[in-house]
Amino acid sequence: MDLQLKGKVVFVTGGGKGIGGGITLALAREGAIPIVLSRSAILPEFKEELEALTQDYEFIQIDLNETDKIQPIVDDVAKRRGAIYGIVNNAGANDNKDLETTSWRDFEKSLHENLTHYYELVHAAVQHLKASQGSILNISSKTALTGQGKTSAYAAAKGAILGLTREWAAALAKDHVRSNAIVVSECWTPLYANWIKTFEDPEARKKVIADKIPFEQRFTSVEEIADMAVFLLSPLSSHTTAQWVFVDGGYVHLDRALS
Ligand code: NAP
Repeated sequence: MDLQLKGKVVFVTGGGKGIGGGITLALAREGAIPIVLSRSAILPEFKEELEALTQDYEFIQIDLNETDKIQPIVDDVAKRRGAIYGIVNNAGANDNKDLETTSWRDFEKSLHENLTHYYELVHAAVQHLKASQGSILNISSKTALTGQGKTSAYAAAKGAILGLTREWAAALAKDHVRSNAIVVSECWTPLYANWIKTFEDPEARKKVIADKIPFEQRFTSVEEIADMAVFLLSPLSSHTTAQWVFVDGGYVHLDRALS
């Protein structure tokens, strides 16, 4: 299937590893031009994998928490590339800022880290998205809908991201710009692998989590998220907007007591 993404410029935040990395590779496979915004330098193995698919990409190192740096980057890419078609807002991390011990200052700081750059990147690129009748994709989390019990700020940020997805779909419908979100529950990524190592018996913990995922009792793969991402970005989903798409093995909607 040709997703009609050939030559289209798409920003991917945190697009050098994990879910964002998978989306960058899937875009490259479709002939799109990924513009990766990443805090850390490109990993050699990721570079090799990406360059086996395309030479036409950019890897721009930026800490998105330094939010004022986003607009100049967007302006520069737009000037050099002539158009911007898509935004994938993906960078973020569950920082476990719980209700009882987190000050409002730390709460706000966490919102800044998980939410503000989602807004700013779309704000910075909106005229270009309108000009190309483009597409926005936000990565959210099940915690926005199920809670997790110890992560107030992250859950608030991910809930706000779902709200923004609908707000932007409403604001930009007249301009033929679509806005959708993917809700992730349990996807095996470097972030997840590091977190699981904090448990005494990581393998046992991994099995406990996987057993609660209704469909096939396994983690979602990065590729399964990326395949949905490129479809939602692409003109082939031309009448799909304002959607929260759950790529989660039924985690949020099915009874997790199913066995
Ligand atoms: P990951 O493996 O840590 O990859 C995220 C990438 O984003 C990393 O390269 C990270 O850079 C980068 N990043 C984070 N904050 C950044 C910033 N301020 N500026 C620039 N780059 C930044 O994480 P992941 O598991 O793929 O998660 C991706 C998204 O999915 C996140 O929004 C996460 O909340 C969401 N999610 C994931 C899961 C899951 O099961 N994995 C579940 C629900 C939601 P560094 O390497 O420098 O840290």
